[in-house]
Amino acid sequence: MREFHCPSCRGQVPFEQCECTSCGNKLLFDTANLKMVRLQDENSRDNREIIGCNWSVEGMGPYCASCCLNRTIPNLSVLRNVLLWKRVEEAKRRLVYDLRRLQLPLVSRNGDHIAFEILSDESGPVLTGHRSGLITLNLAEADDVERESRRIAFREPYRTLLGHFRHEVGHFYWDLLVEGTKLRASFNLIWRVRPKLVACDAVGFCDGLCRFDRSHLADSARAPVR
Ligand SMILES: [Zn+2]
Ligand SMILES: [Zn+2]
Repeated sequence: MREFHCPSCRGQVPFEQCECTSCGNKLLFDTANLKMVRLQDENSRDNREIIGCNWSVEGMGPYCASCCLNRTIPNLSVLRNVLLWKRVEEAKRRLVYDLRRLQLPLVSRNGDHIAFEILSDESGPVLTGHRSGLITLNLAEADDVERESRRIAFREPYRTLLGHFRHEVGHFYWDLLVEGTKLRASFNLIWRVRPKLVACDAVGFCDGLCRFDRSHLADSARAPVR
């Protein structure tokens, strides 16, 4: 992530910041130009108040380029959900920033658009995964204690919210940019040399739905590489 600066005092400001800690200037991240600008009343929308989303809104809609990708959000009448969702959206904005910076498409050849559902497991289990552009994240992953216990249980030292998003969106771009192209052959070679690098999407047996079940890795290492 590159550095961002307050347009008033030129002090360095974190990517997620709504206000400059040096001069108190209200900040807005200009998603068209990928830089911090001064907040104008007319381009502040709902999610700035609710979860501190500091992104600009392009067009007349109520949501920024990241928030508008949400298909489902958690029940906001529960305060804990609001706090956890705020963390989820901070990670998601970092993902969407990268997708914009890299000018990656958000729509597949079949017309599937990248979308997100952030679900609470209060009323049943939620599997973090991807299917046809829809990325599902269990809200509990934003709870540091919950995520840490899963990180240890599944032996995933780099388990983070942003890591989840990058992993799941990788399925989308694998299908769009790699599968069925000449690039596929070079991945086959990598997996023959380093079978532990085989991810759940590599041999297609999880059908694009990751359950973060580490037995996938053991199975995939045994599975024939196409
Ligand atoms: Zn400032
Ligand atoms: Zn937003």
